[in-house]
Amino acid sequence: MQVTIENVVRTFGTTPALHGVSLDIQPGELVALLGPSGSGKTTLLRILAGLDVPSSGRVLFDGEDALKLTVQQRNVGLVFQSYALFRHMTVVDNIGFGLRVRPRVRRPSRREIRRRALELLDLVQLSGLDKRFPAQLSGGQRQRVAFARALAIEPRVLLLDEPFGALDAKVRRDLRRWLRELHDKTGHTTVFVTHDQEEALELADRVVVMSEGRIEQVGTPDEIYDRPNSPFVFSFIGESSALPVRVERGKVFFDNHVLDLRAEGVPDGPAQLFFRPHDVEISLDPERALWGRISNHRRHGGARRVELSVGERESRVEIEIPSDLRLELAREIAFLPLRYRLFPAGQSC
Ligand code: ATP
Repeated sequence: MQVTIENVVRTFGTTPALHGVSLDIQPGELVALLGPSGSGKTTLLRILAGLDVPSSGRVLFDGEDALKLTVQQRNVGLVFQSYALFRHMTVVDNIGFGLRVRPRVRRPSRREIRRRALELLDLVQLSGLDKRFPAQLSGGQRQRVAFARALAIEPRVLLLDEPFGALDAKVRRDLRRWLRELHDKTGHTTVFVTHDQEEALELADRVVVMSEGRIEQVGTPDEIYDRPNSPFVFSFIGESSALPVRVERGKVFFDNHVLDLRAEGVPDGPAQLFFRPHDVEISLDPERALWGRISNHRRHGGARRVELSVGERESRVEIEIPSDLRLELAREIAFLPLRYRLFPAGQSC
């Protein structure tokens, strides 16, 4: 199912939680809403679920006005961070719950409900655990039962709010892979809220980066990581350093000396130079490079991380260099970013 969000505004009292958000989600897509705490992710998901209504704007499900539909009519599958399974029901009864409470005309027979629940249990790789109660399952297993329950109603869209948030790191990673496989098998249009960028980048077809109730950037994980479109996205996704520079007619100046970098299309004036620690090279032409005083260095996987203080303002940056480069006697390093972005100063992080 296609989900269209048009200019959705949600205000709580006088506080705007969403400022005119628009987004198109294609049928079968797995979209992650990613952003820091308070950026509006859950508010947007609740509006899609019908648990909240926008102050203005439209939500369309396959072109139909979803705001006119009740939660039941929307037929969405929900999975939240807390397992929200019924403690007094067995696993198989939990999964079949959404079907059992349907009005009689749309309710399958008891035997059919059981058959479907067992089939879903198999899909979430928990066959044989049908008679257990939630308390007899691990956290990861409970969350998979919650997925099976959400899928039982044959939802038009699956809405997931930090579904792995309460689990430990290893289980989270396993379930991430599991969810990607499940999605590839079932092909549900899925919206996934997370504040974990690794999770979003690994799982999603497209990532929607949110900040303060606005969408900052929408793109594939590669686009978001490799071509962040604002200082906020550059500093929020992955690791980065920023230095204050000046752009003049396509040239980049740092502390009044020109760097061997290009600034085509960037307006003249003060700017911020963003780069990632691993996207630098030790410079062969120190005249036109950045110079940094080494304040610290440490081993970082296969490489070495070096903390530097750069320029008159002693801006702190981190770069990654080959681990076999000897630093014992070096006090300074000249380097240049290989990949970088320049943003006019004044755009906030
Ligand atoms: P988190 O990752 O912490 O869950 P989030 O990105 O999901 O954050 P939301 O829960 O959507 O953010 O909240 C967005 C903003 O709206 C926040 O400033 C929050 O305080 C506010 N907000 C959310 N729900 C309500 C409410 N019921 N009443 C008042 N303010 C609210």
